[in-house]
Amino acid sequence: MSDFLPFTRPYIDEAAIAAVGNVLRSGWITSGPKVLEFEKQLSAYFGGRPVRTFNSGTCTMEIALRIAGIGPGDEVITTPISWVATSNVIIEVGATPVFADIDPVTRNIDLDKVEAAITPKTRAIIPVDLSGLPVDRDRLYAIAAKHKLRVVEDAAQAIGSLWKGKRIGSFGDFVSFSFQANKNLTTTEGGCLVLNNEDEARLAEKYRLQGVTRTGFDGMDVDVLGGKFNMTDVAAAIGLNQLPQLDAITARRHALAKHYFATFGEDFEKQTGAQLPVTDFTNTNWHMFQIVLPEGVVRAAFMEKMKARNIGCGVHYPPIHLFQMYRARGFHEGMFPVAESVGRRIVSLPMFPKMSEVDVERVVVAVREVLSQKS
Ligand SMILES: *Cc1c(COP(=O)(O)O)cnc(C)c1O
Repeated sequence: MSDFLPFTRPYIDEAAIAAVGNVLRSGWITSGPKVLEFEKQLSAYFGGRPVRTFNSGTCTMEIALRIAGIGPGDEVITTPISWVATSNVIIEVGATPVFADIDPVTRNIDLDKVEAAITPKTRAIIPVDLSGLPVDRDRLYAIAAKHKLRVVEDAAQAIGSLWKGKRIGSFGDFVSFSFQANKNLTTTEGGCLVLNNEDEARLAEKYRLQGVTRTGFDGMDVDVLGGKFNMTDVAAAIGLNQLPQLDAITARRHALAKHYFATFGEDFEKQTGAQLPVTDFTNTNWHMFQIVLPEGVVRAAFMEKMKARNIGCGVHYPPIHLFQMYRARGFHEGMFPVAESVGRRIVSLPMFPKMSEVDVERVVVAVREVLSQKS
């Protein structure tokens, strides 16, 4: 049988490994010149906006909420179909997460439902670009402007994605990216936050490192409660290696997605009742290739049969509001029916730059085989 094909595998080349070795030998292994250089290059990539790096994507959203002054008594609207970090950060700053159901086609937050969820306590929206497919930025920012809300874009999966020809991150309010191992650009763990101005960037630096401000040779003061969220030069060296390769990585993902559609064929949805992702070769970076299984197919059984064919699948994501901690806050089944239905049936198929066209064909054959069996 063919080798095991995972649903993703980080893209790390020999030059990245050599760059890490150089940092480790340099005598400066935590935040230093590589972090500053990476931030400079990220800022250039995002059209000159201020950018700061961190040790995760999660903390960038928490820090953005703190910079916006969001806390107890405030409501923040987000999607139930995301990595749980997206709503955990709202609770972390003491605010209240409010979910709006998703659109069944894009699987992103439904902006009609966002408008319906706004109350006098709403202070911000955290939209998520699932799989890198961007939420409609025109509509999103029109809603935010109308109701005077801040936006923290959870663009963790959307580096390299575009909206109307502009890079996600090059416009808008706060934009958060993750460089976790599975993301299109990785630093092993890490993230960055695109900010609006230098005042916000300075505050982000304080929240990143214990609230400390240094002056002169020996001056130091603390005026806000910060944490420990700085990126290391080891991580930044990997990011510096990856950023110039990002366009090629995105192009490769596009080619693989195109091959998935061509191999599944036009009749796949009609024949099986499964749903393919939105066919988009303009905006999305194809972070994942996700299908929604037909009603009645048990996902765990599907994944087990794929595994038996040496193919790994992922689940991104079970609905957040049905986790125990969220149920304890009053959420329950039936509140967000589209998210619940998609969340039960969504599966991520293998998608990473180093897989081959033959791998794609192997996956499609396996999916068709498994779906044609009665479970
Ligand atoms: C990866 C991811 C995060 C969190 O990023 P970390 O770097 O793991 O903290 C948040 N939201 C989404 C949608 C993600 O995919």
